[in-house]
Amino acid sequence: MVRQVNLTGQPVAPGIALGPAFLLRRERKNVPHSTITEASVAGELERLDDAMERTRIDLRYNRRKATRTLGEIVARIFDAHLMIMDDEPTFDSIRDVIRTELVSAEYALYRSLESVARQFDAQKEDLFRDRAQDVRDVGRRILAHLTGAPTDTIGDLHEPAILIASELNPSDVLQMDPEKILGVATDAGGATSHTAILTRTLGVPSVVGLKEITTSCEPGNLVAINGNSGKVLIRPTAKQEEKYREKERHYHQFRDSLLDIRDKQAITKDGHQIELAANIELPDEAKRVVRAGGDGVGLYRTEYLVLAHGGIPSEEVQEKEYRRVAQMLQGRPLVIRTFDLGGDKAFPGAGIKPEANPFLGWRAIRVALDRPEMLLPQLRAILRASPEGNFRIMFPMIGNLEELIAVKAMLAQARAELDSEGVPYDKEIEVGIMVEVPSAALLAHRFAPHVDFFSIGTNDLVQFTLAVDRSNEQVADLHQPFHPAVLQLIDRTVRAGKEAGIWTGLCGELAGNPLATLLLVGLGLDELSTSPSVIPEIKKLILSSTLEESRALAAEALELGTVQEVRDLLLTTMKKRFRDMPIWFGDL
Ligand code: PEP
Ligand code: MG
Repeated sequence: MVRQVNLTGQPVAPGIALGPAFLLRRERKNVPHSTITEASVAGELERLDDAMERTRIDLRYNRRKATRTLGEIVARIFDAHLMIMDDEPTFDSIRDVIRTELVSAEYALYRSLESVARQFDAQKEDLFRDRAQDVRDVGRRILAHLTGAPTDTIGDLHEPAILIASELNPSDVLQMDPEKILGVATDAGGATSHTAILTRTLGVPSVVGLKEITTSCEPGNLVAINGNSGKVLIRPTAKQEEKYREKERHYHQFRDSLLDIRDKQAITKDGHQIELAANIELPDEAKRVVRAGGDGVGLYRTEYLVLAHGGIPSEEVQEKEYRRVAQMLQGRPLVIRTFDLGGDKAFPGAGIKPEANPFLGWRAIRVALDRPEMLLPQLRAILRASPEGNFRIMFPMIGNLEELIAVKAMLAQARAELDSEGVPYDKEIEVGIMVEVPSAALLAHRFAPHVDFFSIGTNDLVQFTLAVDRSNEQVADLHQPFHPAVLQLIDRTVRAGKEAGIWTGLCGELAGNPLATLLLVGLGLDELSTSPSVIPEIKKLILSSTLEESRALAAEALELGTVQEVRDLLLTTMKKRFRDMPIWFGDL
């Protein structure tokens, strides 16, 4: 009798999914030394060539698939892998090892590639260390073909399944085909890690921080995951399976009904309009925003271009990408945030060295100001692309006024250069800052005269206000946007914005949490920017409520002293108020 296992983790992307488990194995395995006879050398060489050819086919297939689903830039991640496959001297030396040492193709491949990877490991630059990971990835793929062992890359998944892994990195998620991955469940991870944000963007139900999912589940086991509640059920009984299927059906029916409001604007019943925008990481996601009925892009995380290109893209490439996004948005606003590198986004090629406390370290605006050769071309690229649409520029992680003044001076320099070159750009382009460091929220009234808008980044604001690492699952339950201290900072920022006559948005993950919608409207936010996949639900809530009731709710919440009190208030109010809708009012 197979045992059922119930686990609870952090729900990070809504939806119900049921399917066979696909386990992504990531441990680095040693391949044992094994010898062959002189007579089998030719056969061994042939096996190696065969496995290499099949790996090339896989990689090309994955590249094509990624181009289709996520766009050309992301697909280039696979070019790096194909380039390794074309490195003749390395593979010639593997063949020599087989011939001269009389060892198996598996062992020769493993030993040679591991030695190349270690040379990269030993380098100080990130770029080289990431190359080490690429080399190991390629090695794993070839080995899988040599041994016929279970494959361990997402690209190898051919049937729809639930992806189970100890952890995923952003490039894994970029390989995911949302039609094949029914859901994601991982041991590690927090709600605001970039991996979670990407799975939410793709609309794949996901639960992270399960701690023991990889050890509780065998490949092929039926797994039910609830991305609304965080519950995961391994090997459900027939009765439980039927219950999940019913929930899945109900949820899909409701989602289909939201199509009717797609083209409506988010206006409360008493006539107050909220700009309901979306966050994107990759240019092609702009299409999803339009499809979901979003008013525009409230946060374009341009640092993902660095990930996709394996380094900082040139001014020309950036201009092209920004224009492309603007074209897809057809005149809708586009808030471009300058590179937010560092922290958990020390992407390959970004030149960010490992640090003891990366979130508190050399990150975002600090990197940008230290590297005008990176920031200036980006600002020029944004300005040059600006006639193509409705652009806004936003700077990340501003913590003090000097930074804002310095970065605005860089912007003035970019403008002056374009003026003297006679290049046209939008002279009225709005300039704003992320309010995601407590010092910026506390001094919002000082910053307001210098900007056209604020956008509150609760993912970081919560981590810095509450001293809780946003990507550490050990403390994930302490990363609480409903903490009264956070609400006070949001309130303070919005008030400062209103007094100065500028608008304030919120682009942290809180904006996509239906439990928070009325609270945020009531606090006076003018814009909410969230994953395209949750726009329909949030819009439905705004259309079904009044500004008056939201204000009353926010005023009540601001009087409370604990997270529990705030959540209880919101849960009771929202569940009662919207009981006819299958919207999950849990906590993201
Ligand atoms: C935030 O910090 O809330 C935010 C939106 O930015 P990011 O998640 O990219 O750090
Ligand atoms: Mg942030």
